[in-house]
Amino acid sequence: MKNYFYLFFILCSISLSAQIKSPEEFLGYPIGSKFTYHHQVVSYSRYLASQSNGLAQWQVYGQTSEGREQGQMLIANLPTGVTLEQVQQNHQKRIQGEKVDLSLPVIINLSFNVHGNEAAGSEAALNTLYALISKPNKSIPYVILIDPCINPDGRDAYVTQYNRRNYISSGNPDPNDQEHYEGITSGRYNHFSFDLNRDWVWQTQKETQQRLKFYRSWMPMMHADFHEQSFQHSYYFPPAAKPYLNFIAQSTKDLQESVGSSFSKLFDEKKWPYFTSEVYDLLYPGYGDTYPVLNGALGMTLEQGGIRGGLISAKSDGDTISLVDRVKHHSALALNLVEWSLANAESLKTSFYGVHDKSRTNPANKFAYYFVERHGANTTEFLRILDMNDIKYTDTLQIKKAVSAFDYSQQKQVTLAPNLKYGYVIPAKQPSAPLIQALLDPAIVLEDSLTYDITAWNLFQLNGLKAFGINENVFGPEEKVYGFAARDENIPSQFTVAYNFLPSNLKQSEQFITYAFQKGALVSYLDLSKENMIKRKGEITVVTSNLTNSEKDELVSKAKELGLRLYPISSFRNYPTDLGSPHFKPIFIPKIAVVVDPANDVNQQGELAYFLTQKYGLKPSFIPSTQLFKSNLFNYTHIIYPDGKHAALSNTNSILLTDWVKKGGKLILMEGARKILDDKDLVAKEDTARHTSTYAMRERAELSNTTSGNLLQVEVEKTHPLAFRINDSSMYILNQVSDFVKLPKDFTAVLKTSAKPNIMGFVGANKKAQLANSLLLGVKEMDKGKIIWFGFNPLFRAIPNQGQTIFENCFLYTEF
Ligand SMILES: [Zn+2]
Repeated sequence: MKNYFYLFFILCSISLSAQIKSPEEFLGYPIGSKFTYHHQVVSYSRYLASQSNGLAQWQVYGQTSEGREQGQMLIANLPTGVTLEQVQQNHQKRIQGEKVDLSLPVIINLSFNVHGNEAAGSEAALNTLYALISKPNKSIPYVILIDPCINPDGRDAYVTQYNRRNYISSGNPDPNDQEHYEGITSGRYNHFSFDLNRDWVWQTQKETQQRLKFYRSWMPMMHADFHEQSFQHSYYFPPAAKPYLNFIAQSTKDLQESVGSSFSKLFDEKKWPYFTSEVYDLLYPGYGDTYPVLNGALGMTLEQGGIRGGLISAKSDGDTISLVDRVKHHSALALNLVEWSLANAESLKTSFYGVHDKSRTNPANKFAYYFVERHGANTTEFLRILDMNDIKYTDTLQIKKAVSAFDYSQQKQVTLAPNLKYGYVIPAKQPSAPLIQALLDPAIVLEDSLTYDITAWNLFQLNGLKAFGINENVFGPEEKVYGFAARDENIPSQFTVAYNFLPSNLKQSEQFITYAFQKGALVSYLDLSKENMIKRKGEITVVTSNLTNSEKDELVSKAKELGLRLYPISSFRNYPTDLGSPHFKPIFIPKIAVVVDPANDVNQQGELAYFLTQKYGLKPSFIPSTQLFKSNLFNYTHIIYPDGKHAALSNTNSILLTDWVKKGGKLILMEGARKILDDKDLVAKEDTARHTSTYAMRERAELSNTTSGNLLQVEVEKTHPLAFRINDSSMYILNQVSDFVKLPKDFTAVLKTSAKPNIMGFVGANKKAQLANSLLLGVKEMDKGKIIWFGFNPLFRAIPNQGQTIFENCFLYTEF
């Protein structure tokens, strides 16, 4: 009898797995023997779901910029009658502190290949999916979400390039062979050369926006991000390195230790080398480990040695590493992690809900409330980030009684008078409290300064928002105040000669200006800056005296359609300057060329593409540097050189470019692009510090020479058109400058540091000495044209900041 049962079980398990094809059977080659394209990953995932008897489903959550499908496999073992929707709803209710009847399953999430060129990821995902679906563990209820490829465009870019460069089908182990080099379009990034593993919290990229919507609908209790590091390294897994954000829950740290021991045991048994607690930290909230941690989950980064490894590569220690081995390690760890998560389901749930309970009732935030004054365009991006991250706030409140508050702009405690401030209140007590703390608390406290990313990103300071940290609930509904000298917005069109508007969104403004030109209107701006006109500084004037009344009406409805607020003017006699004054400078539609060169910083080239095309709706040309001087430069109003390791232009090209500038061209040079000028104007300060350090301290000594990424206070030349729409006389920039530039003779300093600038976040001691009196944005006038030099990157990762307003001004106020 016993034997019959035994035979029966064997037959069952054979028939189950015999029904489902392995990745090798489905694709026709052993996994790791070549790279699998994304469409094949999707086909196999769909196939597995179709064969899973209802255990698994493939959910499409988006599409990449290049049109590839983004999906996740949901593998769910739920009690009979319980649906995925019920689980989702009850889980979300429980996060909000509501009682739920249902006992909730553990929810875990594995993500692969966020960096497309860390290509063992998706291959390992295929093995993992096959194992979890063909031989399911049904011991406890669970939902497992698996994203086989976060960055399909990047992955296919890598795979395509590898295949084109490789002439030996099994791979050439010589690490110098061309197949181990990708060229400038690195598959690490997405279509716009953004690093998707720096974008979780900002959600600027389409791929992230779609994925985070899916993520937040599930709010996993564990998230594992599978990466690869240099092929010369072994394997990294948790516990993570310091610095941690200092408010990460003890239960999360304990789980990190526990899962780390499980991995150690596995790797020790298999005799695979590894390391822990070095390099990969938990600080920056844009990572696939820190972000889940800030949302109550156990987040982790896993790193196989594999970047530039191709199919096989010889290592400098005499060993070789193959794709087969890389995939084997990732797959084994992924299955170990799932097993550990099911075995520790109760601890995962307790920790996750515990963090959320504490966040709602007793958060560790510095303030109970964050109060932000309304501030036009700068508030829009700020609120977008709150919305995307489910951070709740209340609109239209005002401070009802005198209260002591921390003033973010003055960096000190002040007393606020009642009924003078209007805006938004973000209470700390909510499930997103840790995220609020990471984004809005005044200074992130570092446990240690060794981090490989930026160390400050306070959104109030970056956006010049007037914000206050307050510990008392002194807010009440806003009472509307009437009787201000409002501008008349209702002059009938037959009496108007012009309209004014203040650009807030460049895309809308450019669309409106284009439309106004088509109608025959003249568009200009006032270059005079008067103190009492501060709110109108940068307004654009559309003179409509050539237009019929019905054309004016069409213009007004176009503005309405675009969401622009128009102020009609009924006379050329105008305050503060009459409309016919030469101080009204004409505006034209920019025609932009961005120079493409192997020396360019690829991220910045991508940021320029993203801003100009996606955010501004313009149609710039990206011109190879070898082609630029064969073309007619006068086809372009603006030429932009991205940051990079540039050399000086040849004499001939320099003459051509200078001639174009003198005749009215606007040359925009980003950071290192200043080197194309053979100019003594923009000169970097010399590093005169003496470098002495012990061998043991050398990594730390290296840091003395870095700026890492911090917030630096700069002074604003407020009368300059490039500084229009910036209200304060100082602002913060996201500073990663490696060479500080002396204040030059021939450049007007629009942004510069004072003799003693404020700085937040980490800055190396040697760099700190060079901060004072440096140029960060300068303009050199040359006859009719200008050279505009940005000494910092206002577009960095598209993190919202006031530098972006200045960058937009380069295209709005074209004739300054
Ligand atoms: Zn990576």
